[in-house]
Amino acid sequence: MSLASADDALPGALLGWYDRHRRVLPWRAPAGRRADPYHVWLSEIMLQQTTVATVKTYFDDFVARWPRVEDLAAADLDDVLHAWQGLGYYARARNLHKCAKAVAGDHGGRFPDTEAGLLALPGVGPYTAAAIAAIAFDVPASPVDGNIERVTARLRRITEPLPGGKKAIQAAARDLTPNRRPGDFAQAMMDLGAMVCTPRAPKCDLCPWRDPCAARAAGDAEELPARPPKKAKPTRHGVVFWINDAQGRVLLRRRAERGLLGGMMEVPSTDWREDPWNLDEASGRAPLPAAAWAEAGEVRHTFTHFHLRLTVVHGTVAGGDIADGIWVHPSDFGAQALPTLMKKVVKAALG
Ligand code: SF4
Repeated sequence: MSLASADDALPGALLGWYDRHRRVLPWRAPAGRRADPYHVWLSEIMLQQTTVATVKTYFDDFVARWPRVEDLAAADLDDVLHAWQGLGYYARARNLHKCAKAVAGDHGGRFPDTEAGLLALPGVGPYTAAAIAAIAFDVPASPVDGNIERVTARLRRITEPLPGGKKAIQAAARDLTPNRRPGDFAQAMMDLGAMVCTPRAPKCDLCPWRDPCAARAAGDAEELPARPPKKAKPTRHGVVFWINDAQGRVLLRRRAERGLLGGMMEVPSTDWREDPWNLDEASGRAPLPAAAWAEAGEVRHTFTHFHLRLTVVHGTVAGGDIADGIWVHPSDFGAQALPTLMKKVVKAALG
């Protein structure tokens, strides 16, 4: 919760700008109306690490398919993971489903209307709780996403580099949050960051906070928020085993629930490590032994923390089973929750 700012002119100027320039987004309510908490929650989970343009289509699809949180709760997890394909971070999709079940089962289908209540839901962290509380329930909460972080750091010229500077930015954002229209204020900050106070070349001449903005006055807006120098991303290597049985089916395996791409289907592979594999060593890690392995292609992919290079090798076996494995004909892959990385593997293997 925040107190009203001592300087009410700041929120007022921004809200006036928002009334004229607000973005029209599928999850937003028309001016003067409260948004549906289900829509706010769904969009906020989807927007973590993904652009607004990408999320629009997914959001529309989800809401058309599961119009209420109870519908999503009743959906099959595999259908949800399948619909999530392309948004990345599958742990979020799993938590999305868990959260829908919690809201439907423990809260009668109504999202809690306080930050503390929202924070207790699966997959809802402090940012998301504050965003839903503000936008859906007009609670004076202060969500700080990337846009709000940038706007606040510049307005108040907070020069301490991230992540250390986050505390000061959050405190400044809390001080700015008004008790009147806090939900609109949060969305106005997001819109200002997306449209005017952009990472490169902010359009200060169009900004309602042009005069009070400390970074504009100092001439260093574009350098804020300050970031520590970037570390180079490591490259990891793996060997993927494209294994056919006598009927031309391919061995797929479900990944462990926790961790990267948790619960998604994969073409089995070695560990992904920083030392490149040689084929002799890697073939000892194949889930089923083939008489011979032949290289079928290479796949490159980049995750947030590392680059990945996978060598795809092809082998044939008479049959066999492995834990969490299934045999699927490539023409039936469409029904499997295969992440983008694995779609690249399929493409490389099929030439
Ligand atoms: Fe951002 Fe410029 Fe507005 Fe300051 S004046 S908040 S730097 S757009």
